[in-house]
Amino acid sequence: MSSTLGNTIDFDSARLKLGLPSAVHRVAAPRPRITDLPALQQRLAQMLQTSLELDRVLSMFFAQLAEHMALDELRFTHAAHNILLQNGKAATHRCNYRITHAGEYLGDIQFSRSKRFDGAELAQIESLMGILLYPLRNALLYHQAMQRALSDSLTGAGNRFALRHAMEREIPAAAGHARPLAMIIMDIDHFKAINDRYGHAGGDLALKAVVECMHGCLRSVDNLFRFGGEEFLVILGDTDCSAAAQVAERIRLAIEAMHFEIKDERLRMTISAGVAMLRENESGEALLDRCDQQLYRAKQNGRNCVVCC
Ligand code: GH3
Ligand code: MG
Ligand code: MG
Repeated sequence: MSSTLGNTIDFDSARLKLGLPSAVHRVAAPRPRITDLPALQQRLAQMLQTSLELDRVLSMFFAQLAEHMALDELRFTHAAHNILLQNGKAATHRCNYRITHAGEYLGDIQFSRSKRFDGAELAQIESLMGILLYPLRNALLYHQAMQRALSDSLTGAGNRFALRHAMEREIPAAAGHARPLAMIIMDIDHFKAINDRYGHAGGDLALKAVVECMHGCLRSVDNLFRFGGEEFLVILGDTDCSAAAQVAERIRLAIEAMHFEIKDERLRMTISAGVAMLRENESGEALLDRCDQQLYRAKQNGRNCVVCC
């Protein structure tokens, strides 16, 4: 049998400063599992200050708690920021916390394990979550700042800065492990005509719709970047040329079939795409050039098609 317990924790700073007991503490069962809770609290407080990376903060928190109360999983979600982080493996019994601080939503944390949680354990989890609060809030702020620095403000796709970082990371990794890596460059066909007809603001809406559609065609690990005005680039790790061409074709078909309206008119858009696969000893720049040449060929072939080298 499974169980799910739900809670909302609104950590007002006053309670944290004063260390007042929570509702769960007042009904605490007499059998605490953590023998030295203050020592763990102190260790956690020090540890969680050592990183601003959300996944690192949560994995340290999970590791410490798991050691003391046999947890199987910690799952953190923040839908608005599109974050899902998982530590460990899900089990049957769960307790959920929706974390807010001074009216600000900070995410949902779910703990799970194969054994039911008792009242004392829930009280301890809640008290330890108080220590997570500020590191979590700082890590979320850092995450947001990084997202802003790395993403294109109009479409939310990665920007050129993010692309450079991704290439510096992905290309040596693929080459070093002799794993395939492919690239797709896509350009919207006759986009100038869309701007001319619907104005720049209409063109902007079209760009957003295209990116949303592209995201829908990609695995979450795939990286989509806005490469130029209406040019987009995807890096596909562990993917060879023919699989990448299939992805490009899927995107091409999805854009062609997309239902998008401006000023009550259905706007039909198409894209052309070039695909290339990383060669031995090839640099990122050389791969990008070759991929761009395939895009050029796709345009020459009449547009609304994919060309793969
Ligand atoms: P082709 O099929 O050859 O690609 O034709 P095209 O009209 O799409 O030509 P091109 O790719 O050269 O045109 C890009 C256009 O995209 C020109 C520029 O005004 C427009 N553009 C670039 N950035 C933005 C933007 O942020 N918003 C809008 N609305 N338009 C943009
Ligand atoms: Mg174009
Ligand atoms: Mg272009």
